[in-house]
Amino acid sequence: MAEDNNQNNDQNNSEYEEICYLCRRPESKAGKMIHIPNNICICSDCMQKTFDSMENMSGFPGMMGGMPPYMDMFNQHQGMFGDIPQNQKIKKKKQAEPGEKTEEKQQGIFDIRHLPAPHVIKQQLDEYVIGQDYAKKVMSVAVYNHYKRVLTDTMDEIEIEKSNILMVGPTGCGKTYLVKTLARILQVPLAITDATTLTEAGYIGDDVESVLSKLLAAADNDVERAEHGIIFIDEIDKIAKKRNTNSRDVSGESVQQGMLKLLEGSDVEVPVGATNKNAMVPMTTINTRNILFICGGAFPELDKIIKKRLTSQASIGFQAELQDAYDEDENILDKVTVEDLREFGMIPEFLGRLPIIFSLQAMTEKMLVRVMTEPKNAILKQYQKLLLLDEVDLQFEEDAIEAVAKKASEKKTGARALRAIIEDFMLDIMYEIPKDDLIGRVTITKDYIENHGSPRIEMRKSGEATLLTQRNDD
Ligand code: ADP
Repeated sequence: MAEDNNQNNDQNNSEYEEICYLCRRPESKAGKMIHIPNNICICSDCMQKTFDSMENMSGFPGMMGGMPPYMDMFNQHQGMFGDIPQNQKIKKKKQAEPGEKTEEKQQGIFDIRHLPAPHVIKQQLDEYVIGQDYAKKVMSVAVYNHYKRVLTDTMDEIEIEKSNILMVGPTGCGKTYLVKTLARILQVPLAITDATTLTEAGYIGDDVESVLSKLLAAADNDVERAEHGIIFIDEIDKIAKKRNTNSRDVSGESVQQGMLKLLEGSDVEVPVGATNKNAMVPMTTINTRNILFICGGAFPELDKIIKKRLTSQASIGFQAELQDAYDEDENILDKVTVEDLREFGMIPEFLGRLPIIFSLQAMTEKMLVRVMTEPKNAILKQYQKLLLLDEVDLQFEEDAIEAVAKKASEKKTGARALRAIIEDFMLDIMYEIPKDDLIGRVTITKDYIENHGSPRIEMRKSGEATLLTQRNDD
């Protein structure tokens, strides 16, 4: 058994590359590593340099105070920084055998034959994400094209443009959820970050490249997987250019500037096992060319900018009577253009690297009802399953669900409000019901949701023993 474990560990370890403790280069670049006590390895170049410099300093070739010079140095390091964490190893890149097609070696979706077609991706998204049909369609096509481009990797004169995505939609309409579901369907690593935490390199906060470290961690330090992953940057509207300001803008325009090369595709040095670069963290290089970047934001007041543009267009010539036609338009965000976003404060170079722009719709009460009941992992289904384990049938009356949707929509945070409201009224049920084995069914009523009454409780018919009571009796 112990041997098996050792074998497994060896196998796992052999999939990871070691990194030189001094120069931070991985084995693939620096050559074979020399192992010294305390789990440390260094490359032969650094070993040589250490010997050379020590010889120069001490005047005694080879030895200093009876101890090999590098040992002295490492003992100091060890004291200061402790052991090297395991998560600071990176996975070795696979070498293509001569004559072997790299495509064929790829697994999962990284095989062009296994890449799900857009309609299949959309169908799978439909199982989880309610509404947002247009967004799901655009996204399925964009993602399909992106991975097709990655897999074929054509280097001829017709270069397929990278399809990074910008989503505009109010809070709680499913932007993050859509991306999470997509990454799960495609089985690619996903890193989610908030644009508000990003600052220009050198300032307090995470610099833009820290998102790559997150992605690398999500890919189990496997650089190759990370290079095919998805990065979702939320609250992108918060890094819009600030208007009328004289102070240095470290979290707005300059962050957009800092993201340009990532979005486009470049080699970036990334710390392994940490989000900040510092002297003791090993580094690896990630190429962002094939990473799909999806940005999302609520863009408050963007509707006003769109309305202003549409009205000023309408006021010219014969369409003048349409001037206030857009005031009542709930889906005004559908009409968003690059110019509107530029007016909002996104810089043209940044927008130019996000060629796919679309909007999501605000959650209506009807959609909220569906969010609670329809998805495969709908929240009400989850509670039903929990109570079923206690052999209790949980039912929700239709108007009770509608009342929850109404309460949630009043909070104006889209589907986000649902969980808190449901958890609130389910708490008593989840606490009280298991007390009494004779309860067979609980029905949540509208009155209960509106605090005018209690849920309807039905007892089991006598003689209808449950597994649970039997188990308790035993
Ligand atoms: P945001 O648009 O602000 O990123 P989220 O995607 O984080 O919103 O949504 C919050 C939660 O609401 C999700 O975790 C999900 O459970 C639920 N949700 C939101 N939109 C939808 C939707 N269209 N279909 C199903 N569930 C949704």
